[in-house]
Amino acid sequence: VSASPSTSPAGPTVVGVDVGGTKVLGLLVRVPATGPPEVLSETAVPSEAATPGVIDAIADVVVDLVGRAPSDAEPVGLGIGLAGFVDPAGVVRRAPNTPGLLDADVPHRLAERGDERLATLLRGPVVVDNDANCTAVAAHAVLAPDARHLVAVTFGTGIGGGLIVDGSLVRGAHGFAGEPGHMVVDPDGPHCPCGQRGCWERYASGSGLGWLAREAAASGRAPSLVAAAGSVEAIRGEHVTAGFLAGAADAVTVVDTYAGWVALGVANLVALLDCEVVVIGGGVVGAGDAVVERVRSTIERDYPAATAGRGLRLLGAPGGPGGGALGAAVLAARAVERNGPGGHRH
Ligand SMILES: [Zn+2]
Repeated sequence: VSASPSTSPAGPTVVGVDVGGTKVLGLLVRVPATGPPEVLSETAVPSEAATPGVIDAIADVVVDLVGRAPSDAEPVGLGIGLAGFVDPAGVVRRAPNTPGLLDADVPHRLAERGDERLATLLRGPVVVDNDANCTAVAAHAVLAPDARHLVAVTFGTGIGGGLIVDGSLVRGAHGFAGEPGHMVVDPDGPHCPCGQRGCWERYASGSGLGWLAREAAASGRAPSLVAAAGSVEAIRGEHVTAGFLAGAADAVTVVDTYAGWVALGVANLVALLDCEVVVIGGGVVGAGDAVVERVRSTIERDYPAATAGRGLRLLGAPGGPGGGALGAAVLAARAVERNGPGGHRH
């Protein structure tokens, strides 16, 4: 009698997908019962944000990976991560980067492709989740499997978040939990498209980094950034991180200000959740450990209540978009373990 994928020590093999605004990245992953997940294969295709292009791109990635699976590791579950909110039924309710997925029942749309291998995979669990939730799950599996309480925050165009409390992902009443970008940190601050003023992501997202630099440049405090970008208005977060890594004094000052805003929000999250681990992801981590180090030293200096006696670990997230796909795969593997490889969705 062969062990079922749900009980084998090698664990189930699953497909994890990260859906970005310009590409879809997929991983074939074996997720053992203990120890880190093992990536068997990886693929990516460019995608359109609109339907049906984005559905086609997801299907192409999944079919490619299923075709590459070794005979002893046939995938039995599918996880999909994307920027947006996913309701408890798995339907996408907000998708700023991929409007083509809005209100879509993704498994149903994939099934409409009529591909036989895809149809076989879709008989197993299909999990669709927010990409920051996927980042939290991947970080938990890879960096901190011993932690029971972990927060992941991703700093990109906006700020995303994923909360793991007592070992489980927290979703909230509507699937919107752990989205700290619209916590108000300055009621007199700049307007936010959400209708509030002074949301955390106005200051601490990757876009916020550019805004802080333009504010500094407009009052003559960022000459090297103006020179690099060509004008005050053209300054973006990338100019700041490049200048910071090159040691330009004005860029270092902007990053210090930025790190202060990041630290403020992180300290508030730690005060609320008493988490052991905070994972920082997104473009700001691409700028290197130096920025994470800046945030860490700022929290320790300015927020003693968040750090004293807690042994808080502040870590960079694993592997960019690959981290999101990995987390989606882990979520799919957990669903397989719960429901069995032929079990129900979600
Ligand atoms: Zn807002």
